[in-house]
Amino acid sequence: MKKSVRKAIIAGNWKMNKTRPEAKELLEAIKPLVANAEGNVEVIACVPYTNLETAVNTVAGSNVKIGAENVHFEKSGAFTGEISADMLTEIGVEYVVIGHSERRQYFGETDETVNKRTKAALAAGLKPTVCVGELLWERETGITEEVIARQIKLDLYDVSAEDVKKTVIAYEPVWAIGTGKTATADQAEEACAFIRATLAKLYDDATAQAVTIQYGGSMNAANAAELLSKENVDGGLIGGASLKAADFNTIVQAAING
Ligand code: PEP
Repeated sequence: MKKSVRKAIIAGNWKMNKTRPEAKELLEAIKPLVANAEGNVEVIACVPYTNLETAVNTVAGSNVKIGAENVHFEKSGAFTGEISADMLTEIGVEYVVIGHSERRQYFGETDETVNKRTKAALAAGLKPTVCVGELLWERETGITEEVIARQIKLDLYDVSAEDVKKTVIAYEPVWAIGTGKTATADQAEEACAFIRATLAKLYDDATAQAVTIQYGGSMNAANAAELLSKENVDGGLIGGASLKAADFNTIVQAAING
């Protein structure tokens, strides 16, 4: 991490886990543990829609911020089952995960819809975390960089330099998500540095240097410090380990000390 240049962010992605009482209990446990991150590392919990209001109320007055796990790109209308950006900001949500590989794999998310969601989120004042990353066979066939560059170009199409600085990019190799297989710190650094170089080509170097790029994929209490020690890894998007207060806190502390 280069905290002197850009903001380090540790975000939990709770996926489809936790009822409202369970969400409150977990956040109450996390809050005091991560209070020392204030002003140093941003701490976010991205939670299921049904938990958002409970979560926002539970973290009020603390340094923990709340994010959603998806957002629709239209403002309102005949989109049964969807949630708009204004609905999220209205209850105090500040962040949103967009284009997570589980949405790309199971729910037909495409780079086009990721791009639309990203622009809608930014227009509503939400800070998007845009997820990119290659499948295992794409890595094995040597096209990781091609895949990531394509996703970055399409997902950020027509997003201004000013807005891209408010956007977090999460490099999440699909083969490392929920599998227990972590990219090595060198693999994570290589991909995050490549994303920054791609941003520099699309925008300019100063803009690219300002963007927070996280690593995600089986990051946990044991491997976080090494991953976060890399210059271009500015934080983590954490699934499984974000559901345990102690483990999530160990990752936050690694970011504070990194
Ligand atoms: C994720 O959901 O973005 C993720 C990285 O999951 P896990 O940490 O469980 O691999």
